[in-house]
Amino acid sequence: MIAANDPELKSWVEVPSASDFPIQNLPFGIFRPVGKTPRVGVAIGHYVLDLHELSKRSFLDRLGFPRACYGSRHLNPLLQVAGKAGMRQLRQRLSDLLNANNDELSSDHSAVAAALYPTEHVDLLMPVRVRDYTDFYASEQHAFNVGSMFRDPDNALLPNWKRLPVGYHGRASSIVVSGVPVRRPNGQSKPPQAEEPVFGPTRRLDFELEMAFVTFQGKAMGESIGIDEADDYIFGLCLFNDWSARDIQAWEYVPLGPFLGKNFGSSISPWIVTLDALEPFRVPSPQQDPEVLPYLQQSGPGHYDIDLDVFIDTGDGHENAVCRSNLKHLYWSMRQQLAHHTVGGCNINVGDMMASGTISATEASGYGSMLELSWNGSKPLTMQDGSERCFIEDGDTVIMRGAGERDGVRVGFGEVRTLVVGNDA
Ligand code: MN
Repeated sequence: MIAANDPELKSWVEVPSASDFPIQNLPFGIFRPVGKTPRVGVAIGHYVLDLHELSKRSFLDRLGFPRACYGSRHLNPLLQVAGKAGMRQLRQRLSDLLNANNDELSSDHSAVAAALYPTEHVDLLMPVRVRDYTDFYASEQHAFNVGSMFRDPDNALLPNWKRLPVGYHGRASSIVVSGVPVRRPNGQSKPPQAEEPVFGPTRRLDFELEMAFVTFQGKAMGESIGIDEADDYIFGLCLFNDWSARDIQAWEYVPLGPFLGKNFGSSISPWIVTLDALEPFRVPSPQQDPEVLPYLQQSGPGHYDIDLDVFIDTGDGHENAVCRSNLKHLYWSMRQQLAHHTVGGCNINVGDMMASGTISATEASGYGSMLELSWNGSKPLTMQDGSERCFIEDGDTVIMRGAGERDGVRVGFGEVRTLVVGNDA
């Protein structure tokens, strides 16, 4: 077991039992205290620990990373310098500093006052500068649902789907952090009965419940990352809402795939939970039939048991629960995605983001998009205020949360929360 994951550990920082951020988690992010510059932080309970301040006060000296890494606007420099082994040492060091049995930091009252901020007093910023973004299509139920709606249920999965993790290269520039509003996009669509395409705001704005992983620096172009070493190149995960305009997507996607139906925005949660912190939540990957090619064959459990929830607030402050799914409902594991991504020699860089694709459970209450929940707009969902939703309306806030629980320890991701605004301005 990784020592920092020990369920017996307690922190001297108070952590409420329902918190996503006990000492066993310690997710990394970038935050800005009022009137100060952005810096690296770690979440603990309702607080953010300032690594820039800890570094200035020499608490992190033995790790040997340049102090500038902790004062950076993004995690990329730290991830670049530290790599997998270094980030593991840093998380262990922070676990020791926050441990209730160690007063090295807790007894230094001026350091505690300077380095520990209530989360509500800081801005949580984009944790990484996303260099490249790839979106997979790794949930069988989601691929089946979409294939059933747009083709036919007897032929829902295309012949390649169980042979390789299908994906596309998406737009990195429009990935934004929780709290940043997303504007309803304009675009072309072609209503089913219309002769000509029309232009205007999407009438089918949708979320996609996904998770994404962030990479360390990969290998040189021309080389590939083998499936048994893939975990060494994965730093951690966040929640990912892949906003989608279904009418724009349906008209434009043939033959080269998603474009304006996807590129107007994707939203992520601000904390990156390390793959190490998720180790206790590993579960076996599903049996794959037909057997996959050798470069995609993995040994040991490659999936993670993380409950995922989606809520819609229509503006009345009530969170309408619309979906309960789980990260384990993927057909393709993250290792398989990364091995496939690089097998042709594609290089990956520090801060690349690879999203899972919509994570739909087998039961209808766990479908990960409105397209599926409302079955292509035919089954509206009723909200507590009496209104109905087939897709997302202006003024709606979509909230996604995720967490695993094992041995009395809850390791969570916080949330990604996004207000949708109209584009009639
Ligand atoms: Mn997607």
